[in-house]
Amino acid sequence: MSEKNIVIIGGGQAASQVATSLRQKNFAGDISILSSEEYLPYQRPPLSKKYLSGELDSERLYLKPEKFYEDQNINVMLNSYVEEIDRSNSKLTFSKNNGEESTINYDNLVISTGTSPRLIPLDNPNLKGVHYLRSIKDVEGIKKSLIGAKSMVIIGGGYIGLEVAAVSKKLGLNVTVVEMANRILERVTSPIISSFYHSYHESNGVEIRTSTSVIGINGDLSVSSVETSSGIIEADIVVVGIGVLPCQDLAERAGIETNNGIVVNEFCISSDSNIF
Ligand SMILES: Cc1cc2nc3c(=O)[nH]c(=O)nc-3n(C[C@H](O)[C@H](O)[C@H](O)COP(=O)(O)OP(=O)(O)OC[C@H]3O[C@@H](n4cnc5c(N)ncnc54)[C@H](O)[C@@H]3O)c2cc1C
Repeated sequence: MSEKNIVIIGGGQAASQVATSLRQKNFAGDISILSSEEYLPYQRPPLSKKYLSGELDSERLYLKPEKFYEDQNINVMLNSYVEEIDRSNSKLTFSKNNGEESTINYDNLVISTGTSPRLIPLDNPNLKGVHYLRSIKDVEGIKKSLIGAKSMVIIGGGYIGLEVAAVSKKLGLNVTVVEMANRILERVTSPIISSFYHSYHESNGVEIRTSTSVIGINGDLSVSSVETSSGIIEADIVVVGIGVLPCQDLAERAGIETNNGIVVNEFCISSDSNIF
């Protein structure tokens, strides 16, 4: 294999696995991972389960320990947000969390920027106590809001919403799940499975309101209630789990073909043959 310089954007499972697989296949060139997060690549599934409940600490979430990347000569650059891809010069511009800007060149680029939560429109976007759940940092925010909280509203009856509901109920909160569709897990399971989980969560004390849409989230500095099509529900904390959107803005701005994600062929090659 020729010794190229490969740069990977994103610090999730895909980024970590691409770097690992390259070394497993004896790729001997430079590999750099640029991640906007402050943690080494980690598993997200436990975030809404054992990490939220406090049974796991952040290091247990890591896909590989720091030593692995050192031993494999994989340069992991954390807190590095890629701002721009300059395809004509095969160069990236990225900023560190102190605002400092730098550039890095690539021979081949891997874009593994994943997804980000679909946001709910809010009159006051700075309202405290309204959370999304995608990262370790998000869970840290939720944990802080849980201190002293009595009631939680979860917007969205998908997997993440229901997992947060189960954990929060166990922590002693009054939990209401608001779902716009006529059943929970509507996009991912059959009516029979939805009905099973609906009964299961209700038997554990979670209130579920289906066919209910959110009209607004009320509060001055912090959230106080959620206004829905089936009435106002008190809430000290709101977790929104209404799906994700692909992080394709960076690729789009660089003129790489996108269509609800980056368009690739069967070899994961994008419309630019140097970019995967
Ligand atoms: C709470 C939760 C529970 C889940 N449970 C399950 C489950 O049980 N089963 C399952 O199969 N899947 C589950 N998933 C989904 C699974 O975690 C994702 O499919 C997986 O994380 C996708 O990995 P990825 O590397 O493609 O993207 P991501 O994990 O989204 O990682 C993308 C990374 O890129 C970084 N990034 C984005 N833009 C830039 C930029 N411009 N510059 C630098 N870095 C950037 C992001 O910060 C992030 O670190 C869950 C997800 C969550 C959030």
